[in-house]
Amino acid sequence: GQCAAHCPTGAIVENDETATVWEALQNPDKYCTVQIAPSVRVALGEEFGYPPGTNLTKRIYAALRRVGFKAVFDTNFSADLTIMEEASEFVERFAHGKGSLPLITSCCPAWTDYMEKYHHDFVDNFSTAKSPQQMLGVMAKTYFSEKMGVDPATHYQVSIMPCTAKKYELERTGEMFASGYQDVDVTLTTRELACLIKQSGLVFDELPEEEADSLLGEYTGAGTIFGATGGVMEAALRTGYFLVTGENLSPDAMSIHPVRGLEGVKEAEIDIKGAKVRVAVAHGMANVSKVLERVRRARERGEEIPYHFIEVMACPGGCVGGGGQPYGISDAVRQKRMEGLYQEDQDISIRCSHDNPEIKRIYTDFLGAPLSEKSEKLLHTKYKARKLYQK
Ligand code: SF4
Repeated sequence: GQCAAHCPTGAIVENDETATVWEALQNPDKYCTVQIAPSVRVALGEEFGYPPGTNLTKRIYAALRRVGFKAVFDTNFSADLTIMEEASEFVERFAHGKGSLPLITSCCPAWTDYMEKYHHDFVDNFSTAKSPQQMLGVMAKTYFSEKMGVDPATHYQVSIMPCTAKKYELERTGEMFASGYQDVDVTLTTRELACLIKQSGLVFDELPEEEADSLLGEYTGAGTIFGATGGVMEAALRTGYFLVTGENLSPDAMSIHPVRGLEGVKEAEIDIKGAKVRVAVAHGMANVSKVLERVRRARERGEEIPYHFIEVMACPGGCVGGGGQPYGISDAVRQKRMEGLYQEDQDISIRCSHDNPEIKRIYTDFLGAPLSEKSEKLLHTKYKARKLYQK
């Protein structure tokens, strides 16, 4: 498409799917819904002349409704859902000895692909929780469709992601079709969303501020910081602490500063009522290998593992620095986009995933509990060793 030709040689562009989405939006037999990822909201503005880090969530919702989506959801909601499942998994492994440690996050598809090919001795350490993109999709086609009387066969889910690898995650394994329908039908990058808005003729600056649609739209500070390196870990520790102690961390302790920022490997030790949880956060593949090497060495020597929980993101900075974001990335830009997310976490009244009212409701009305049979079926996946050139 015309908009995708940012790269001067045309060599580095995603497979532009804006035309596919327009076609779906104009098809009267399709019920089109959409989700936006955490880091999209603080980067899209750069395509419209705003400084990096400007949080445009509510105006993006308005734009998506006006291009024709029937309901606008937020991946921040399902980031909270991912945390419920993943923190529960962590507590099972850490506090009840069920499963291997360290637990390693798996919401970045570039990382999961890399691990399955190059580090598959860690397959059992992966969190089986699906990524927020996939969780939102499957809940849209099951829970939301059921409540709203939408035929899931006509439900067409679009995700707006900071990431080109997210396009391939859609068909990663059979679990991405666990409900009988594909969780998410198509992914657009942040850049493609900018194109979609420009192609629509909407004047972005003049759009009002709107809210997301209910059932899959409400989110917490923990959900929004998923877009920055260290954010998933921080969110998981807030809920892990609650699951073990029955109490929330104090508002000050809830901001876990050692896991924030652009240092390549970040480490922290969190005290959960006397139990010490050692965590590491790595972003950028070279840093990831360093952390995994430390774990391997300890295993080989029969020493205590250096970490109980590891967060990995393939892109430096995490998704704020993703390959589908507006061009012109630098550490200064990554920093600004991250600040936009941490600011939102600070400003929002609910900062823990388990306190999100819509998350409570989805468990009471539909899923039962984290790691229930239904949650396992719809919200979890599998990993395996793959050969280098195997899908
Ligand atoms: Fe995609 Fe990069 Fe985020 Fe991984 S870290 S999910 S590759 S944008």
